[in-house]
Amino acid sequence: MGDRWHVEVDRGVCIGSGMCVNHAPDGFRLDTARQSHPREAETDAGELLLAAAEGCPVEAIQITLAAGGEPVFPPEEE
Ligand code: SF4
Repeated sequence: MGDRWHVEVDRGVCIGSGMCVNHAPDGFRLDTARQSHPREAETDAGELLLAAAEGCPVEAIQITLAAGGEPVFPPEEE
């Protein structure tokens, strides 16, 4: 892919399921309150990160292109 992504977790939405950490342990970590944090706010694009965002049961993870801010996940509504 070659893109850089900006990753955010909405901690008001995250329910601490830990699924993102299971999908992408290099991308996310849980804090002591079981809230997910991206390990890096900006990172290389990767399938595991996308799988983590897609797999979050409450869609707490947003990925945008670091360069232009266009949404990667969730995809922009048509
Ligand atoms: S998968 Fe979603 S709800 Fe679960 S810990 Fe990660 S961000 Fe939070």
